[in-house]
Amino acid sequence: MSQGGAVITSSLMPTYARLPVRFTRGEGAWLWDTDGKKYLDGISGIGVCSLGHAHPTIAKVIREQSGHLLHTSNLYEIPYQSQLADALTRLLMSQSDPDPIPPRVFFCNSGTEANEAAIKIARMYAHHKGIGSPKIVVTEGAFHGRTLGALSATGNPNLQIGFEPLLPGFLRVPFNDSAAITAIADNPDIVAVLVEPIQGEGGVIIPDDQYLQATRDICDRHDWLMILDEVQTGMGRTGRWFAWQHSSGAVPDVMMLAKALGNGIPIGACLARGRAVDVLTPGTHGSTFGGNPLACRVALTVVDIMEKEGIVEHAERMGHELHSALASALLSKSVISEVRGSGLMIGIKFNRSCGELVKRALERGLLINVTVDDVLRLLPPLIIEEREARRIVQTIAELVDEFFTER
Ligand code: PLP
Repeated sequence: MSQGGAVITSSLMPTYARLPVRFTRGEGAWLWDTDGKKYLDGISGIGVCSLGHAHPTIAKVIREQSGHLLHTSNLYEIPYQSQLADALTRLLMSQSDPDPIPPRVFFCNSGTEANEAAIKIARMYAHHKGIGSPKIVVTEGAFHGRTLGALSATGNPNLQIGFEPLLPGFLRVPFNDSAAITAIADNPDIVAVLVEPIQGEGGVIIPDDQYLQATRDICDRHDWLMILDEVQTGMGRTGRWFAWQHSSGAVPDVMMLAKALGNGIPIGACLARGRAVDVLTPGTHGSTFGGNPLACRVALTVVDIMEKEGIVEHAERMGHELHSALASALLSKSVISEVRGSGLMIGIKFNRSCGELVKRALERGLLINVTVDDVLRLLPPLIIEEREARRIVQTIAELVDEFFTER
């Protein structure tokens, strides 16, 4: 990394291409760097800090809990963990008929780990059914994480090269294509379908309205588990608690959360209901840190703030405003082919590479991200206000004009 001409050496493994900036503090939707320069955060630490930075209630809870108890391990009962499980299962079932058996939750520390838990549930479910070589249907362009199970489920060959052999047991179909699932459904080894309701890393790809419901129907017909990776889309990001709630009949059997659940404190969750609920039994899965008192109390506070302050509704409203303002400012520009999104998960599709805009935006005090080379992605904190949304639109419009007319 170089800053001000000086190369900064470090003992870190070079796994990240980092931008040359160091933040020292944040407040709401804003961050400040070591020189005191202020940045509007349009990416929230990749969809994590939904309630903004340095939220006073969350800071207070962290201070308080760290003075009481951080960690005991899952050898013992953890009341905040049970309370958080109750809160999340209540949200999961809020739009559906109550299940005869209440859903259950396994807590871990990241999205990848939540997906690993889901893959293990699918495999154990298969073994209970006498299927010794189970297959999970996954999609092209998917991102589920970097551990070997989650990486094998991921649909981006660039991320997999060099790590072969990958975990067997995944069948890949195009995203947003339920007919492609039906076409392979006579394979007796299939036990589950694992998809993101909206592909995030894959370029903010929104499937057709019917896709999740059609996938749900196929899973029901074949007694498969429908597994939804809501790591990026969950916790209000799309203007619903979970993105599947836009098509409310598509209740998943297994659903994964992470990212915004802890607003910056690492926590992941794998929720299971119906036929998936009791698949994992004592000793079949575990985590030393997963669901510790600090992480669970913070996540409970996140849920509480979101409910009391109507953050999901706010995200839906601000999502509409930001989306339509971006569309009217940008769609007339020849380099932009689409503005798409759901709630505050927005992708601006260019008809050429746009990675350079990330650095240009940084210079102008705006944090954005580019995925799949030609999609500018916005995941601002869910608490953004109109003036901040206007600033995002204005900065991006100016940047596009400046950068693409220069070339
Ligand atoms: N699943 C989805 C849909 C994601 O977007 C991500 C991360 O971007 C992950 C899983 C992996 O989560 P984590 O980086 O917390 O392990």
